[in-house]
Amino acid sequence: MSRPEVAVVGAGLAGSLLACFLARRGHPVTVYERRPDPRAGHIERGRSINLALSERGIDALRRIGLDNQVLADALPMRGRMIHPVRGELDFQPYSVDGDRAINSIGRGALNNALLDAAAQQPGIRVVFEHRLVGLDPGTGKLTFDTPHGEATVGADVVLGTDGAGSVVRGQLLEHDALTENVDFLDYGYKELSIPPSPSGDFALAPDALHIWPRGTSMMIALPNPDKSFTGTLFWPDSGGGSFASLNSPAAVEEHFRTHYPDLLDLAPDVVDDYLHNPVGRLGTVRCTPWQTGGRIALLGDAAHAIVPFYGQGANCAFEDVVELDRCLDECADDWAAALPLFEARRADNAEAIAQMALANFVEMRDKVASPVFRLGKKVEHALERALPGRYVSRYELVSFSTIPYAQVQRRVRRQHQVLGAVAVGAVALALGTIAAAISRLGRGA
Ligand SMILES: Cc1cc2nc3c(=O)[nH]c(=O)nc-3n(C[C@H](O)[C@H](O)[C@H](O)COP(=O)(O)OP(=O)(O)OC[C@H]3O[C@@H](n4cnc5c(N)ncnc54)[C@H](O)[C@@H]3O)c2cc1C
Repeated sequence: MSRPEVAVVGAGLAGSLLACFLARRGHPVTVYERRPDPRAGHIERGRSINLALSERGIDALRRIGLDNQVLADALPMRGRMIHPVRGELDFQPYSVDGDRAINSIGRGALNNALLDAAAQQPGIRVVFEHRLVGLDPGTGKLTFDTPHGEATVGADVVLGTDGAGSVVRGQLLEHDALTENVDFLDYGYKELSIPPSPSGDFALAPDALHIWPRGTSMMIALPNPDKSFTGTLFWPDSGGGSFASLNSPAAVEEHFRTHYPDLLDLAPDVVDDYLHNPVGRLGTVRCTPWQTGGRIALLGDAAHAIVPFYGQGANCAFEDVVELDRCLDECADDWAAALPLFEARRADNAEAIAQMALANFVEMRDKVASPVFRLGKKVEHALERALPGRYVSRYELVSFSTIPYAQVQRRVRRQHQVLGAVAVGAVALALGTIAAAISRLGRGA
């Protein structure tokens, strides 16, 4: 029996990984990408240069034998390094034993490795400079803008992996095949470069994700293999200390000097970077359904873009690919059965990580600097040691396991309820002991 022709729209992280998985199933696949081939050296500005890859993403790569190759270029980060305005740096390990790490990886290198792997598979064709501009959900007819004019092709199955601003999603919306809600944060992001030190070494500890928490805003920095760091400012769009309010060289320099005093020495070009680099938007995309007619579906950011504060967007997109592959297995490659099953299994999980990512912004920009938070982390690690496998922190469950996100959210809620009850019990016991001691004193007087 001949396999249906599959069109994948978008050769980013999810699309190129998806092509590798579909190739193993023997599906003829054409991947359409609006950009020129990035392996020819074209780099798009304004997208995050590096990202944190953790267990969910690595698990997907392991399944196609690419994990070791990709991780060879990654830099493990074992914890957060907090940069206060004044005072000592504070290292907060991610895991109880301090040796589990998330991995800083170049987005371009990862995308290129996946594209190479996809292009080597028989049955896979990757076509660049094809920007989707039209899709008829009834017939699966796709229209692209290309350097040679408009091109129209047909496909039995269409998979939209064209990112947060997905045109596939937009076309389904236009044809009343879905509803969407895009919730923009009133924060944007801007990247800055921290070069190697004058001696040619990393300017900061390379085995940590660096955070400058400043209450209502923050900066983070991740290491790169060339010993530079990529810093990202997450600042409000408007109001005091916002991207809108800081636009003259003197004001920007003064702001960095006051709020990020160590940065000016580390990154001499920071003001110039700030003035020239674009501000990216951040938001959460929710839409329903993710598939229509059992033949057109959305995966990755196209279906469920999230804010980047748990470092999980790409990891979650990779998990989508693994789950779709599993559904195709279970449905004997019947797409009409597999696509609804895929959505049923992934939608709650995508919503769970969307919520956890939003909550983590407050933790990163504000709470990590507080002594109460530090104490809480120590208590959490002590509990993890005392109750191995029974009490596991949310960070560990999200970043170092493949337990579905919705399950993680429920488990953490239960853990917190038990902890709350234990804390109340401990306080009651302490108060009882104090009351008994006072009453004994009273009787003795
Ligand atoms: C600042 C920032 C930091 C982040 N950090 C992390 C992190 O640490 N860890 C993590 O896991 N995730 C992180 N993410 C999220 C991660 O980048 C995304 O979740 C991930 O890239 C999603 O992959 P995707 O393939 O679905 O979409 P994308 O990577 O956006 O790929 C979409 C592809 O589709 C192509 N395309 C778009 N429109 C069309 C069209 N009309 N026709 C044809 N092709 C088209 C695009 O050119 C692109 O190649 C971060 C995101 C941001 C913004």
